[in-house]
Amino acid sequence: MEEKKIALNGLKEDIPLAKFTSFNIGGRAKYFFEGNNKREIIKAVSLAKQEDLPFFILGGGSNLLVDDKGYQGLVIKIQNSGLKIQKENSNFKVAAGAGTSLSLLVSNAAENGLSGLEWTVGIPGTLGGAIYGNAGAFGKSMKDIVKEVEVFDAKDLQVKIYSLEDCRFDYRESIFKKDKNLIILSAVLELKKGEKKEIENKMKRYLSERKKKQPMGFACAGSVFKNPSFAQTSRRFMTDRELSAGELIERCGLKGRSIGGAKISEKHANFIINLGKAKFSDVRRLIDLIKKRVRSKFGIELEEELQYLEHPL
Ligand SMILES: Cc1cc2nc3c(=O)[nH]c(=O)nc-3n(C[C@H](O)[C@H](O)[C@H](O)COP(=O)(O)OP(=O)(O)OC[C@H]3O[C@@H](n4cnc5c(N)ncnc54)[C@H](O)[C@@H]3O)c2cc1C
Repeated sequence: MEEKKIALNGLKEDIPLAKFTSFNIGGRAKYFFEGNNKREIIKAVSLAKQEDLPFFILGGGSNLLVDDKGYQGLVIKIQNSGLKIQKENSNFKVAAGAGTSLSLLVSNAAENGLSGLEWTVGIPGTLGGAIYGNAGAFGKSMKDIVKEVEVFDAKDLQVKIYSLEDCRFDYRESIFKKDKNLIILSAVLELKKGEKKEIENKMKRYLSERKKKQPMGFACAGSVFKNPSFAQTSRRFMTDRELSAGELIERCGLKGRSIGGAKISEKHANFIINLGKAKFSDVRRLIDLIKKRVRSKFGIELEEELQYLEHPL
């Protein structure tokens, strides 16, 4: 690839990406930049666009599988953290930078007796990443609390405000997943006043549910696959309840199967864990094996929830 260089203060070169991901997998980024505020993020994206340098937006790296070959472009890590709470009639608006962690948001909300974010307890990553994938748990998702999103559009280099409707949220889907030119800068969430004790109890309940069902203490990226639609599974199994991706994988007898350093969790079949030295290709081969088995046994096409950062060339 032709050597491209951009003039950006704080630009780093040849940075290993594995440590920026919860999977702890992946090669090096040719260029790496930490955007600590809106201005820096906009500048980095604009320069990359101008120089025709491929760029990738990284949040907390908790839903990401990075190629061992690394990335021959610019990785921009979103780090504009911070939040402000404002009262509006009986509701409360929380304005936060895209780089704010969900854990900071939910703990702040709980401290202030604000309800609506309890279900995010235990989900790693940033607000930007959660909006991108419409993260969800316990029957709730970001679409239930997002009021508006501030976006930098790399196509026309303009800052825009997206309303809840503009975000086109669906199950683990959003406009941001479809259009990679849209970079989430910040968002306003709408929360309700609640009882602090009740909020804390709910969080405790959710956290203990998580601990019961999910593997703890392993490097992973959360659920690997989206759950198939009710229409797909009910037709196939003549059942009136949804069948999760995890159940389908389990019914294929794949729980505990490992390739290299990667393993399908014994505790939750929709989790692939890194036993320590897993490579990108180990996880990728397990993903391909799962898809093939579920397709041939049930005629259902599983779709990844996790996102890839692969070599652009
Ligand atoms: C133990 C564990 C449990 C989990 N449980 C859940 C769960 O219950 N529910 C759930 O939904 N997820 C869960 N996840 C997955 C993950 O935590 C969420 O999807 C999270 O919202 C990802 O945010 P992130 O900042 O880490 O995004 P990253 O992994 O950094 O990025 C994910 C995608 O979002 C894009 N992106 C990130 N920030 C921005 C931005 N500012 N603008 C534009 N694009 C952006 C990236 O380019 C990438 O394509 C879990 C993960 C782990 C490891």
